[in-house]
Parts: sequence; C-alpha cells; structure tokens
Amino acid sequence: MNQLQQLFPSADGNVEQREKILGYINTIFTNIDELKDPSKLTLGQMPNYTKDYYNRIIEESNVPRKGLPMEVTITELIDLAKGQRFVNSNYVANAAPLPNIASILGNLVMVLLNGNALWDVEGSGAAKAEIMVTSMLSKIVGYDQNTSAGYTTWGGQGAVFNSLRLAVARQFPESNKEGVPNNIFCFCSELSHYSLYKSVEATGIGVNNMIRVEVNDDHSMNLEDLKMKMEKVISEGGIPAYILATMGTTDTFGIDDIKGIKAITSELEQKYNLKPIYVHADSAMGGMYTFFNEYDFANNPLHLEDSVSSVLKRYQQKFQSIHLADSMVFDFHKLGQTPYITSLFLVKNKEDLRYIDLDASETPYVGNRGYGSYHTSYTLECSRMGSAISIYASLLSMGIEGYQSLLANYIRVNIAFRESLLREFKNVAVTNEVSPVTTFRFYPNEVLWKEELGGKLTRDEVVEINEYNGEFAELIGVERERVYFGNTSKQRLIHVRDGDKRLPVYVHKFFSISPYTTIEEVDRYISFLKEHMNVHQKSLVLV
Ligand SMILES: *Cc1c(COP(=O)(O)O)cnc(C)c1O
Repeated sequence: MNQLQQLFPSADGNVEQREKILGYINTIFTNIDELKDPSKLTLGQMPNYTKDYYNRIIEESNVPRKGLPMEVTITELIDLAKGQRFVNSNYVANAAPLPNIASILGNLVMVLLNGNALWDVEGSGAAKAEIMVTSMLSKIVGYDQNTSAGYTTWGGQGAVFNSLRLAVARQFPESNKEGVPNNIFCFCSELSHYSLYKSVEATGIGVNNMIRVEVNDDHSMNLEDLKMKMEKVISEGGIPAYILATMGTTDTFGIDDIKGIKAITSELEQKYNLKPIYVHADSAMGGMYTFFNEYDFANNPLHLEDSVSSVLKRYQQKFQSIHLADSMVFDFHKLGQTPYITSLFLVKNKEDLRYIDLDASETPYVGNRGYGSYHTSYTLECSRMGSAISIYASLLSMGIEGYQSLLANYIRVNIAFRESLLREFKNVAVTNEVSPVTTFRFYPNEVLWKEELGGKLTRDEVVEINEYNGEFAELIGVERERVYFGNTSKQRLIHVRDGDKRLPVYVHKFFSISPYTTIEEVDRYISFLKEHMNVHQKSLVLV
C-alpha cells in the first residue's frame, strides 16, 4: 500500500487500516469526553474573544506544504472543540440539538458511503433512506405516502424557499421562462421566521409584496386580519399566491390554525375565481409534535400527567390538520435531536414537482439513463448530502414513543419552570402559552404585562421595561457558562397609549431542548436567575 492510500479507508476491508481509523475515532471521543463538565456550558475554556481574535487567526492560517501526521491533525481538531457550547443541562437558550447516538452513527455511515443523494446511481443508500423517511413521516402527518414526495434540503429556511418557488411555478408555469409577475403576494404572520423575508428578496417577488398578518394573544395568526389583507390585495389587482402557516413560532411556539387558513383560501378562491393558493406549513420548530397525532390520550400508554396531556391534546388538534398544507418541513436538527443539517421538505402532491423539474436535456450527465430511476433534478441543490440517513437512524432508534417521551418532557420541564418562576419572583410575567419554550419578562416594580397587552402603557414606559430586561440579559449572559438562557428583542408587538406605532417586547427565553434538562434541574435555573436579579435590583438602587 502506498503512502497516499494510507490516508484513505481501505479498499479491501483489511483489519489494520480499520483499527487505525477506529483508533483515531477513539482518540477524538476520549479527548472530547475529557473536555466535558456537566456543571459548565462549554467544552474546555471559552475563547477570549479579544478584538483581534479573528485577525490573528487570519494571519496564522496556511495550508501546510507537507501533510501533517494524523496525530497532529487530530490535536488541531480537538482544539476546535475547545470553547464550544455543549447542549447539556446548562443550555436553555435555543432549539439547538444534542444529536442522539443513532443520528451520529447515521451521519458516519453517510460520510463513509459518501453517496450523492442527487441520483440513486451515485447514492443508492441515501436515495433509499430518503424514500423511507418520506414515507414514514408522510404516514405520521396524514399525507398519502403514494402521492407525497420529500427531499432533504438546506434547513427550514430552504424548505420555505423551495415551497415558495413551487408555489410560483405551479400558479405561473411560464414564470420559469419569463420571470416572476410583479403582482404576486405572499402572506405570513408578523412573528414568522425571517426565512420568507429572505425568500421573497431572492425570488424577486420583493419584500413589498410580503404581507405581515397580526397575531392573536396565543401568537397564532389572526385569521380576520389575514382575510382582510388578502381581500385588500385582490381588490387592488394583486394575486395572493402563497401563505406561510407557522406551526410553532421560533420564539414563542405559537401555532397557526391551518384549518382556518384553508377555509379562507377556499372561500376566496371561489369568490374571486382564483387558482389554488399555496399553503406551506412552516413546521421547522413544531413539526416533531405531529408524533402525537395518533396518541391515545384516553388510554395514555405513556402515563403522562394531566398537565402535560392537556397541552399535548391541544397540539394534537392543531397538528392533525397539517396535512391540509401543500408542503411542510421536519427540521430534525431542532427538536428531533440530530446533527445539522437534517431537514426534510415534504410535499403533499408529488405532481407539483413537475413545475420545477428540469427538462431532461438540461441534465445531460446524470439521471436520464436506462439505469437509475431516482433523480432529484427538482431540488435547488445539485449534489446533495445523504442526510436522510441520519434521520432514518434517529427514527429507528427513538421510535414514535421515544420521541413522544422526549417531547413530553420538554413540556413537563417547562410547566415546572413556569410554576417555580411565578412562585419565586414578584416581578415576573410569563408571556407565552405552555410549550417547549417559556418566554418571561421582568419588571422594575410591579408586573404590568396585562396593561402592556391592553395598550395602556406609554411608549417611554415600554421602552424602559425593555431596557430593564435587556440589561438583565447582559448580566446573566456574562455567566452563561453556568446557565445559558435565550432572549429575544421582539417577542411580539404591542400597542402603546401615546402613539400609533406598535413596539416590540423584550423577553427572556427558557428553551428546554436537551434530554439533560430535567425537572430536577429547575431549582438550579431559578436560583441562578434569583441571584442575578438581586444584583440587578441593587445596581438600579445605586444609580
Ligand atoms: C428555525 C426556523 C426556521 C429556519 O430553519 P433552519 O433549519 O435554521 O434553516 C424556519 N422557520 C421556523 C419557524 C424556525 O423556527
């Protein structure tokens, strides 16, 4: 075996080469494990981000003239792990996953096979896994697995972009040649993810043609406002082409009423003789909760307590209608606990894909051969990673019940966190419904959340409370090694007494996302907040 070949996996499966790779992997695992400390957020020391941190790196980075020994390369790789936040019980900031073991192994298999998911001739395993997970998940959400289609793509963001492209091409097949008509309009909740914002920019539809719909107090889209805004567009000669229904808003887990949205689109299609309006369910955050769509709450096989059951029952009612959407997404790298990027874009009717498929003459070197029948020429990617393999592994290992237990525990922990928060603080309001995330807002004196929602405060008062919370976020952020809470400067918009412009609300987020975030940890989270609130209040008195 020559020297170059030694840098690669074996061609014949010999033991020596295998042992060598396994040895390297063992070293990596051992070194990363040694950096772990359950009482800290990061692996090893957090980097000192001085002003010249990245400049120094830019100066020092060069491709070595001669390749380095593997041991040195591994040391450099471990160096990358140092300072990385690890999703243990100290992490309660965002929907970042701790990938489960099966998904890690799935990822490894994906890399070892390195199939190109573009075409089954180049990636038979990836193609097969994609077909399998598409069918499995279609059955869970209530799509007909013989009619649906799915492919992995670049995140929940990619799913929004893909769905918008599909919506435009379906309604205006000529637009692929002629460009996008300038009177197309898209609608979304004002709390929807910025994915659509970017997508209307990139497709040339333009942000001016993206209409934001107001939300209800449960952070779901207000359907009266939706209907009114759609009719206004129609009356001015616009064409409503696309609605983004958010199933789990990113910060507050608000769930849009997709049944109600479909009722409106059907009504307006009839009334104004419109072509079908495309609805994409942006279920990047909430999609995993479809795993309760068939849960039998009467017999309650997982013995869920009433408080948890009642939340999940409410979810079931909403998510059972998700099959009404033309497409949806599973962002496994959020609540599905798999590595980045593992997003499956699911399309209800695979016939729709013909509007965005390339003509055979445009794909001369792949796909259209006598051999190979799975060629995803409708994706925006050309080569694609076989991330369906990670998803597949995770689904096999977790099973429906494993996911149900994990997802129910997020709710359980949040209920405990909320109760404890309200018990221990006189100056806090919880500002969203029970979900995997709790948003909360502190007040310098008494709690004024109801008054804020009712538009009774002045602009200055709301700004002051926002600043009070922003400063508190800075304070606890310094100690994020101990507990890392999230925050958002725009949970929602509220009216004020002395102005027409609505103001955003600053809140803190407790996002329960790790299997290590358990009921037992709740006291620690609360003590952390209390300790810092004492400091925060004192600093105000001094000023
Ligand atoms: C996170 C999120 C997205 C974007 O998903 P990525 O996987 O990060 O691209 C889109 N929509 C919603 C509602 C999200 O929460």
